[in-house]
Amino acid sequence: MFDTLTSRLQGAFQKLRGKGRLSEDDVKEALREIRRALLEADVNHVVAKEFIERIRERAVGQEILQSLSAAQQVVKIVNDELTDLMGGAQAKLARAAKPPTVILLVGLQGAGKTTAAAKLARHLKASEHRRPLLVAADIYRPAAISQLQVLGEQIGVQVFTLGDQVNPREIALRALDEARRGGFDYVLIDTAGRLHIDETLMQELQDIEKSVNPDEILLVVDAMTGQDAVNVASHFREQLSLTGIIMTKLDGDTRGGAALTVRHVTGCPIKFVGIGEKVDALEPFYPDRMASRILG
Ligand code: GDP
Repeated sequence: MFDTLTSRLQGAFQKLRGKGRLSEDDVKEALREIRRALLEADVNHVVAKEFIERIRERAVGQEILQSLSAAQQVVKIVNDELTDLMGGAQAKLARAAKPPTVILLVGLQGAGKTTAAAKLARHLKASEHRRPLLVAADIYRPAAISQLQVLGEQIGVQVFTLGDQVNPREIALRALDEARRGGFDYVLIDTAGRLHIDETLMQELQDIEKSVNPDEILLVVDAMTGQDAVNVASHFREQLSLTGIIMTKLDGDTRGGAALTVRHVTGCPIKFVGIGEKVDALEPFYPDRMASRILG
């Protein structure tokens, strides 16, 4: 994951470490390298520029340059700023005061939405000992309902479906009734995606949002699409009250730009990351741990 970014940053720090006390020029050179590393990682240039500026402000302070552990302190500053860029503290999943907590999963087709719904159900069940109900509200993609049923069976979670002839809003409402009756803690609604953002998709999602008043609307985006994922998130955010992001396919993302910047650009925190195709390949997202991982 993000191998090039990690090795580029380590390279920049290595040069600083060889120097003992640092001059302002040493720091400038390191910042240039960090900026190049970020751009190569598909971080957009405005974000990269602001990021470097913040580090420069903190790093060229007199005490740091004169300290014997200057290089170490620069690494710490970069670590802090990476953590902040990704949102600082962990953003936890909402929980309704009165169950069930309703979570709407939205996103473009192929992003990994159906898989993410099942992964999240498994996480809630296995790690938090909750009772989730999965809801098949993607009635357009032919295999989506059966895919969710297969996954549900695999993880031992009930899947609510009314087939593909009932409209998604109705499915969501009926699922909610079912969840209340059955004493479920969470309702995870897998909605339809399309290849591109379009009016009809957004309208349908807005209708569901209005009807079920979800506690969370999680956007599922594919990390491997880099800045496109960030743009998709910006669009969805304009149309829906997104509360968080599940970033999938981090295992196949060699660059890291989307994970680094989506929070900063959209204001929407990453809550979980997908790190593989299997149903247990989902992790809560911790900005500080991710920053340490990136710095290696
Ligand atoms: P949807 O159209 O958004 O519902 O997408 P799917 O859930 O059907 O997933 C599309 C493809 O992405 C499937 O082949 C999944 O196995 C794969 N996928 C989903 N999440 C991940 C992930 O975190 N890592 C990897 N490597 N593949 C994933």
